Amino acid sequence: MVPEELFSLALGLVPPWLVEHVTFSVEEKRLDLNINFPKGSRFACPVCGEGCPVHDTRDHTWRHMDFFQHEAYLHARVPRVKCPEHGVHQIPVPWAREGSHFTLLFEALIMTLVREMPVLTVARLVGETDTLLWRVIDHYVHEARTRVDMAHVHAVGVDETSSRRGHDFITLFVDLNARRLLFATPGKDAKTFEKFSADLQ
Ligand SMILES: [Zn+2]
Repeated sequence: MVPEELFSLALGLVPPWLVEHVTFSVEEKRLDLNINFPKGSRFACPVCGEGCPVHDTRDHTWRHMDFFQHEAYLHARVPRVKCPEHGVHQIPVPWAREGSHFTLLFEALIMTLVREMPVLTVARLVGETDTLLWRVIDHYVHEARTRVDMAHVHAVGVDETSSRRGHDFITLFVDLNARRLLFATPGKDAKTFEKFSADLQ
């Protein structure tokens, strides 16, 4: 088995996606994986799921998990399909969210690290800006919070706590029965209740 096939397997790629070309540079300390699909491949229309021909493609690069001490990048031309019924649509790729600079695995690594240390520290550790990391965090936090069901909350506890050595305050709203955090917001005045009320609804 050639390295390209091994990397296709390791990334969990399914046809028509495949790793076409691997470049490994010791000097630049990086690994580049070029993903492609054979000519004439068809992809599912994101609206109806029907297999459609490729209309055009756009080149994308994603940062992937480091390969030992080497930074790894995925490159692919992402197709837009032309569905006879729904027109031209960009298709989602299985290894990354639309619009992200990182693969899903790299995002999972970020989300695991930021649970344990400040975002700026993680940014320095992985060699990315904290702005890019915050974008990832905001996405997953927002997604997780839309799934939070507060319908069975009966008793709420509220407390303020200081952050940044006592200069700033945040207010925490906690489900007293389930012992979980429902909402947190900067400040310690009545406005925090207005914000919690808005969030609750
Ligand atoms: Zn369609």
